[in-house]
Amino acid sequence: MTSTNQSQVQVTFWGTRGSISTPGRLTEKYGGNTPCVSVHYEDTSIIFDAGTGIRNLGLKLIEESRNREDQPYYNLFLSHTHWDHIQGLPFFEPVYTKDTNLNIYGSPRKRNFLTSVLKGQMDYEYFPVEMSEVAGNITIHEISEETINLGSGIIDWSEQIYHPGGSVSYRLKINGKTIVYATDVELDHMFNSKSKGQNREAAAKGYEEFIEGADLLIADGQYTEEEYQQKIGWGHTSIPVLLNVAYQSRVKQLAVFHHDPQHSDKLLDELWIKNRGDYCSEDSKMNIFWAREGMTLAI
Ligand SMILES: [Zn+2]
Ligand SMILES: [Zn+2]
Repeated sequence: MTSTNQSQVQVTFWGTRGSISTPGRLTEKYGGNTPCVSVHYEDTSIIFDAGTGIRNLGLKLIEESRNREDQPYYNLFLSHTHWDHIQGLPFFEPVYTKDTNLNIYGSPRKRNFLTSVLKGQMDYEYFPVEMSEVAGNITIHEISEETINLGSGIIDWSEQIYHPGGSVSYRLKINGKTIVYATDVELDHMFNSKSKGQNREAAAKGYEEFIEGADLLIADGQYTEEEYQQKIGWGHTSIPVLLNVAYQSRVKQLAVFHHDPQHSDKLLDELWIKNRGDYCSEDSKMNIFWAREGMTLAI
């Protein structure tokens, strides 16, 4: 844990695992919960994704809200609605508290889809409490604005088409710092495909611009190079391609994220040791780490 003060932006990983939660002794260091990252600055709380990791975040927010007199106000940005990114939402304790306000943001591409998927997940056949019955105020936004202002932070977003069903990446600018959350995308398809096409090149350029110079990039690095060969078209990125694209885009700090369910702590440690020194030159250095559940960074 890193100590922080009020002027800092605090980023905490609550879930870093991709696809499905993986509890057990082999994953206890990097964690088994599926994606959830919180960013806190000033009085603003932003949450990226509602994987199973959001349950522990909710418990902490409840604890904190006991000492506050104002109404809690949280902003959840969903990359997409695959299970591993929404499944923790019904277990996010603050929504069962009357004073909670939760704004949920997601892609506008499918019209009403976001609302129906989130409500569908809490249908009586799947879960005992329906979304309409929770005590807190939940507002679902299909994003229409180019940017969203929250406190002195500004968030913009970009559709990522190289993932089954698509996903959205988010970029937060605050106090001169940039944090990008860009998971669930197959960068190999954009940057390393043998059959280059105009669409891919445009998507690659757009991605590079979106992450350019980020102080922290949290990004999909699910597969080793060898694994990727068996998973082409599955919508996730191989580690060497991610590292290279991030370095070329002058990212300062890279959190490799959305770990494969088959990857043990031992393997993730080995991947970090193998790759950490390769992206430093005289005029440029990128700090690389594998995102670990429970880790907090001050940006
Ligand atoms: Zn995922
Ligand atoms: Zn996905």
